Amino acid sequence: RKLGIALVGLGKYSEGQLAPALEKTTNCRLAGIVTGTPDKAETWKKKYDLADKNIYDYKTFDQIADNPDIDIVYVVLPNALHAEYTIRAAKAGKHVICEKPMAMTPEECQQMIDACKKANRQLSIGYRLHFEPHNQEMMRLGQKEVFGKINHIIAENGQVQDESSPWRLGRGIGSGGPVRDVGVYCLQGAIYTKGQVPVAVTAKFHPITDPEKFSKVEEGADFQLHFADGTVANCTASFNKQLNKLRAEAAKGWFELAPSFGYSGLEGKTSQGNMEIENVPQQARQMDAFAECILKNQPTTVPGELGMRDVQLLSAIFEAARTGRKVSTKEVLQVMDKS
Ligand code: NAD
Repeated sequence: RKLGIALVGLGKYSEGQLAPALEKTTNCRLAGIVTGTPDKAETWKKKYDLADKNIYDYKTFDQIADNPDIDIVYVVLPNALHAEYTIRAAKAGKHVICEKPMAMTPEECQQMIDACKKANRQLSIGYRLHFEPHNQEMMRLGQKEVFGKINHIIAENGQVQDESSPWRLGRGIGSGGPVRDVGVYCLQGAIYTKGQVPVAVTAKFHPITDPEKFSKVEEGADFQLHFADGTVANCTASFNKQLNKLRAEAAKGWFELAPSFGYSGLEGKTSQGNMEIENVPQQARQMDAFAECILKNQPTTVPGELGMRDVQLLSAIFEAARTGRKVSTKEVLQVMDKS
């Protein structure tokens, strides 16, 4: 049986990536939508042949509890709404995929995890790159120390933001700015390449060059992840520069992806030659993997706990930028697991 997925929020990512990916999946299918825009509901209904009873708005959303066609709710809303809709989906008895970053605060993340546990439903984060072969190769090369011990990492992710997603610039609703929205890829990339969680972080926000655009969120930031063995990952997140790179330097060579975090066209090189790895439909793999976990009652490799760890580390990065101090991650990583 193919599990039914309902996409909540039909913005650029749902329309451009997730809905097309759902046409390539084998374990799941697009079964429903949740949108506040009646025009979009009509267009999607026709395009994806959706039943009227599987189309919800934000007021009727909780009635999804009574709909056996929907097994998984995929929260693709602005970052500040992730917690509310994940918790409502869990209360409706659905498994949840929540987009990155998981939420705005560690406390919200804990509430999301608790709600899913209480409902006995699985929660996963939209960390598609865990299912992407170039990034999987970075994990293998780094974690198995194929080029020896890593001594330096560079992770850069930036997108020039315009007014097409006003919430990203902090208008109307918070986004967490570039550090949370795109910096989470640098954090993830550095950690899964090194295979360790940093013990401390330092950070500095970029100077604002466009005060009108960046009146509510930061323009960018440099942050450093300090690992126990002295390795440093130099990370850059920006809403005003195009950046896309993950590079590791090790005792016996180097390996890198550029671009590293995109949906397609990823390219890998090492000090011994090109990686020659095919690009695959990442989101289809990600959703199929989660559906398989549910069908086989197995845990996901990208659970809420992983999303929460990153939100905790992002909070430490903000504190470091605010105070100018080197912030130990030990304190923020004390998981408040009450179960
Ligand atoms: P978007 O601005 O294109 O879409 C957001 C949608 O939310 C819109 O359809 C908007 O109408 C709707 N919405 C509902 N309530 C809203 C409110 N109160 N204020 C503002 N909008 C509201 O954004 P997007 O790029 O599709 O991003 C959506 C989510 O997906 C974000 O969490 C983002 O981080 C994530 N995302 C993930 C990836 C990835 O590669 N995993 C890529 C892009 C976006």
